This record gives sequence, structure tokens and C-alpha cells, in this order.
Amino acid sequence: MPGSTDQTLRPFLWRAARMFPDVEIVSRTHDGIERYDYAAYENRTAQLANALRDAGIERGDRIGTVCWNHHRHFETYFGVPSMGAQLHTINPLLPDEHVGYIVENAADRVLFVDPSLAEKLAGAVSEDPDAFESVEQYVVMGDEDSIPDVPLDPMVDYESFVGDESTAYDWPQLAGEQPAGMCYTSGTTGRPKGVEYTQEMLWSHTMATITPQGLGIDADDVVMPAVPMFHVNAWGMPFTSTAAGAKHVYPGPSPTPADIAGLIEDEEVTLTAGVPTVWIGLLEYMEDNEVDLSSLERIVIGGSAAPESMIRRFDDLGVEVMHAWGMTEMSPIGSVSHLKPGMEEWNAERRYEKRAKQGLMVPGIEFQVIDEGSEEIEWNGEDFGELWVRGPWITTEYYERPEANEEDFEEGWLKTGDVVTVDPEGYIKLVDRAKDVIKSGGEWISSVELENELMAHDDVAEATVIGVPHERWQERPVAFVVPDERADRNALAEELPEMIEAEYPKWWRPDDVVFIDEVPKTATGKFDKKVLREEYSDEEFADGQVPEGAAPGSE
Ligand code: AMP
Repeated sequence: MPGSTDQTLRPFLWRAARMFPDVEIVSRTHDGIERYDYAAYENRTAQLANALRDAGIERGDRIGTVCWNHHRHFETYFGVPSMGAQLHTINPLLPDEHVGYIVENAADRVLFVDPSLAEKLAGAVSEDPDAFESVEQYVVMGDEDSIPDVPLDPMVDYESFVGDESTAYDWPQLAGEQPAGMCYTSGTTGRPKGVEYTQEMLWSHTMATITPQGLGIDADDVVMPAVPMFHVNAWGMPFTSTAAGAKHVYPGPSPTPADIAGLIEDEEVTLTAGVPTVWIGLLEYMEDNEVDLSSLERIVIGGSAAPESMIRRFDDLGVEVMHAWGMTEMSPIGSVSHLKPGMEEWNAERRYEKRAKQGLMVPGIEFQVIDEGSEEIEWNGEDFGELWVRGPWITTEYYERPEANEEDFEEGWLKTGDVVTVDPEGYIKLVDRAKDVIKSGGEWISSVELENELMAHDDVAEATVIGVPHERWQERPVAFVVPDERADRNALAEELPEMIEAEYPKWWRPDDVVFIDEVPKTATGKFDKKVLREEYSDEEFADGQVPEGAAPGSE
């Protein structure tokens, strides 16, 4: 027998607004800090749903957002899906033609846009007006003074759009399979691929990630997603925090490390989340500025590997890093690196080695790791293969992309494209993206491992490693390093390869170290190796001369 209702988002807000009506939702906006509580928030989501219904929006219609993290964007998170429409968050940092493709593919009927992003959006519209044919209304996220002078037509400000609407809405009982959200993967090659999230996918992701085995969010938490709300629903945290009745803090448009630090201090944030580059920025800022992190208990770091050195530095500051792994296709969280009972007693080296792994799958997800011979690998921490996953919040297809479906899904499993090992305790460790792994002399070199080791050096701010073509060895690793301002580059160029050689097989030693000002980043803040590969495609690198006897494969 089925339960009396399907698994949908609305009861999370129903509960928060009644049981935690005074708990705050705070956001940094173009007009300064704004704050209200769950009771007011629930009213505003009803006003938004009424406004959308008046605009002719019906069940199944898609509503796009081109917005940073703030309370109005959060209002669309419950308002849109709970009326039966589909919230489609759009990454504004993507190239214009991708934004156009995404809007056309999703056929968004309304687009919500931040004042500071309106010009960028208008640029995309003027480049390809046909792609935006489905859009009947642009809504600018502010009041009437926020209307920008750009050709988006018709355009209304959010406060006028929702202002006169009733705070009551007769929310429908939705089916679990009703599409509720949508996000496109930034896809390093080819066009972005759309992933649809149903009500029950978002519900089950919320229920799994709220547990201690997930992110462990509770009513006494103050949660600030630094990860953008256009990046897989800010990893689902706006939903999870609401389910918990926690206080929300949103850092607003283009937050700087100073903004992040200021909000942690002022709002007493206990839990925050973001990609490693955000935390590199904060740690650098803290070198020259006094920041009080005493309220902060935990940081979720994911999206790219959290270097062990970063986990150690935050530990020294009294902040526990929860290293999480996931994908857009997985709503997004798959695994979190928590220690098992007893491991707390292990020595520091073993503990950090475990915590720097991508960790244990959260309850509800199954996985298998398939090697090049199509066999499941042994869980011995050494054999590796491609990680396949399945579970209630993992999609089984891309939106209207049959050729990609064929490639990325098999018998109900999502083939992640991530190459991993699994240790006897069940912790996965990401060796590389399949396309980033360096193949040298028939053996594999993990670029992720090298990057983490390089970034542990005190004088290195950022580092990434790519495989460059080599006549004899097919590929050799070359390190691209952003040195600290005070670093002695000559010394560093010698020290870094030696450091690698001391830790790893000799042939893992990078052939060359190239100093750059900044590692190029993708629209979600990850290191963009594709750009480096293109930029340096004609470059002659030093040949590190792999010593005879230490050839790849001989160790
Ligand atoms: P996206 O769908 O854009 O969020 O990208 C998903 C991909 O990011 C994964 O397939 C991984 O390659 C990478 N990724 C996510 N989390 C981690 C992590 N903790 N460590 C290493 N790579 C990660």
C-alpha cells in the first residue's frame, strides 16, 4: 500500500513555517542585508505562486532563474515546484550561446534575473533572440528602483510582480514523479545536458543529506551555502535547511572572501559549503585579516577534491571539513567522508588520509566500480575503475539527449566518468576524471593526487596538473602553479618536482613546472584544464627525462 501522500517538498516548508516561524532567513542583496522569518517566507512563496498563476503558468511549465544566492531566489525554490511548475536554475557564468541553448531547450516561460546579471542576459538574448522565443516575462530580482536599462521585454520588478498578491495559495497535492527542478551540467565538451529533478528525487535527497551520515543539519544550525544556487540547487541545502528548521544565510551577488567572512561573523554561521576555490580565497584573506570563525563548526567542501592540506588547516582553526562528492545528475550528493567509529583513535596521518577521500556513499545509494575489462574491482584501495551509481535521487536520463543517454547510462546505473579506488572500509577515492587521467608508458598517473600534493606546499596558492603529449611515454605530467606572492620561483621550480618524487613513483615527477597568475576556472569554480590544454597546445615543455629503470610500469 502506498503512503497517504507522495514524497514532495511542500511539507518541509509547511512544518518550518509552523514549528519554526521566527527562525530567520538572511540575505546580502544589492540593497544591503535583508532579513525575515519562515512565517513571512511562506507568505511570500504563496504570493509568488499567485503571481505566476496570474501570468498563466500551469503545472509542468518551466521557470528559469539567472540569479545569485538571496532570499528572492530562495522564494522560487519552494514557490515554483510547490505549485507544480519546474524551477530551472541557470548558470549565468556560462558563455552566452550556452545560456541561449539552455533556455531554448528548456522552453522557459518566465525568467527571473538579478539586476547585476540583466546586462549579461540581455547580451545572450540579442545574440540569439530566437532561443528566447518561449520567454513571456522577465522579472528583475529587486524593487522598482532595480529595473536596469537593458532591452529585456517585457520586464517587471519582483516586488511589483508579487506585491499585491494574496498570501494564501491552495497548494496542490502533487505526484512524486512531477518534475520540480532542472539544472544543466556545464559539460566540458559539447552542449550542456539537462537533468530534471522530480519532487521525489528532491525529497529523498533532502532526507538522506539531513542525516548525520549526510550533512547532519539540525534546527540549531545557521546554514550559509556559498555554493551558488544555480549549481545543483546549492547542493540541495536550501531544501535541507528548511526541512531542519535551520536559519538560512545567503551571501548574495559575487561574494568576496571579505563578504563570506563578514557573514560568518555577523550571522554566526555554523555550517557553510562550497568548492575548494572559495576556501582557498578565504584562507588567503585570513592571512592579512583578522576573522572570527568561532561560530563555524563545519564546512562542506566538494565539486572538486578538497586537498588534505586544506582539511588540516581548517581543523587547526577548529572547523571540521566534510569532504563531499556528487554530480549534477545526482541532485547532487553521493558520498561524504565521515570517519567510522573507532577511526577517531587512529593517528593523524591515517585519519587525514581517510578524510581526504571522497568517502562513504550516503544511505540510499548503491555503487559498483567497473574496470577496463568490464569486471568489478576489488575493494583493496589500489585497483581502480569507473564508478557507477544508482539511487532514488540519481537521474536515469538527460533531457532530450538520446545519444548522451546511451553513453552515460547502463541498466539503471549512471556511469559517472570518475575513476576511483575503494578501500576495504568502503571509502571511495577519486583518482581522476576519466578524461583527465595521465597515461604515461601504459601506466596511470593521478592528476588529482599530484595537485593535492603540490597545494600542500606553503608557497603554492593553486596548482593543477595536465598530461601533455610525449613521443616516448605518450603523455607526461606538467604542473601549472600559482605561487604565493612571496615565493621564490626558482627555488619552487626545483623543490616541487623533488617533493613529488619523494612521495610517489619516480615517473610521477612532473616534467615541467609552469608558473601562471591564475588557474582558469569553469562556470562552477572548478579548475578548467581544457582552457590550459588549449592555451599551451603549442608550447614546448622541458623533458623531465624519466630515468632508466624508473620507467613507467617498472615500479
Ligand atoms: P558537476 O556535475 O558539475 O557538479 O560535476 C561533477 C563532477 O565534479 C564529478 O563527476 C567529479 O568529477 C567532480 N567532483 C565533485 N565532487 C568532487 C570531489 N569531492 N572530489 C573530486 N571531484 C569531485
